[in-house]
Amino acid sequence: MTMRHKATQEQPVDLPVGFNALLLDCAPVPGCATCRTEWRNLKTAEGAGEIWQAADHATKIRDHASGCH
Ligand SMILES: [Zn+2]
Repeated sequence: MTMRHKATQEQPVDLPVGFNALLLDCAPVPGCATCRTEWRNLKTAEGAGEIWQAADHATKIRDHASGCH
């Protein structure tokens, strides 16, 4: 008699809310079309649960301050 255990590598990524807030911490600059577009995409991604994609948009908004766009 053998006992088999199914080993699944999949684990749900459950990030704490505070961590999400940190990832998405950014402020779109008023009047900047790029920031506005990224902010909209951020909110869409956040609403869809695509937190890493949302964080990517937040990074682009932060890039405004460093003169990347
Ligand atoms: Zn901008």
